[in-house]
Amino acid sequence: MTTKQNDRMPIIAGNWKMNHDHYQAIQVTQKLSYQLDKTDYEHVEVVICPPFTDLRSLQTMLDADRIPMALGAQNCFHEDSGAYTGEVSPGMLAKLNVKYVIVGHSERREIFGETDETVNLKVKAVLKYAMVPILCVGETLAEREAGGAEAKVAAQLVAGLAGVSKGNIATLVVAYEPIWAIGTGRTASTEDAQAMCAFIRKQVEEIAGVAAAQSLRIQYGGSVKPGNIGELMACADIDGALVGGASLDPDDFARIVRFG
Ligand code: PEP
Repeated sequence: MTTKQNDRMPIIAGNWKMNHDHYQAIQVTQKLSYQLDKTDYEHVEVVICPPFTDLRSLQTMLDADRIPMALGAQNCFHEDSGAYTGEVSPGMLAKLNVKYVIVGHSERREIFGETDETVNLKVKAVLKYAMVPILCVGETLAEREAGGAEAKVAAQLVAGLAGVSKGNIATLVVAYEPIWAIGTGRTASTEDAQAMCAFIRKQVEEIAGVAAAQSLRIQYGGSVKPGNIGELMACADIDGALVGGASLDPDDFARIVRFG
């Protein structure tokens, strides 16, 4: 494992998925904030990505209590407004002080039929409202076993970043989430996770140049827990984690924010 030598601010984001109503969201976030102090926030950017219905309550609470956690959304539509029943626009999220939007999570790709093209439209829409996309990429187990993991991730990056300026790419977060490790308790080995994150940085370098590749942050996601975050964060190209299950528990998530 190589040691880190870069200026990238680590970013730990909790993806609550479809869990915690707005009452629970406030309780959990308060408990989390009691466990974190100024030094933690100086070393790590802490992001909570709750369901849409929790965003306004959390925004109000974070503001009132001056808690320096950022809010993220788990998805959005790419249009500004209009007849799109059930969708939420990036502008609506920006108004709630949402800073990050997860785009192209494998559950959205697999269950809701999102494609690389729709993911690309969302990346651009999020950037248009000065928020930061967390662009999710990752291979299935079958693709990994067939030796196609890198090709899959490279194709997702090329398509997801099409038409995005180098300057914007530099600000992005890419989450490498091997699909077989999400919610399964199976984590990629530290070596495999680092190797894929280094590959992602190299691909971004080809797309947008060295400066963008060096500044873009890459998260690992897939069964991250207090027990494995330390070794993941020690990897040269892993700048943070996208955490599902373990982010629902404020004690576990606080330990992850502290790298175990
Ligand atoms: C995720 O949903 O992005 C995720 C990584 O989930 P988990 O941590 O539960 O595997």
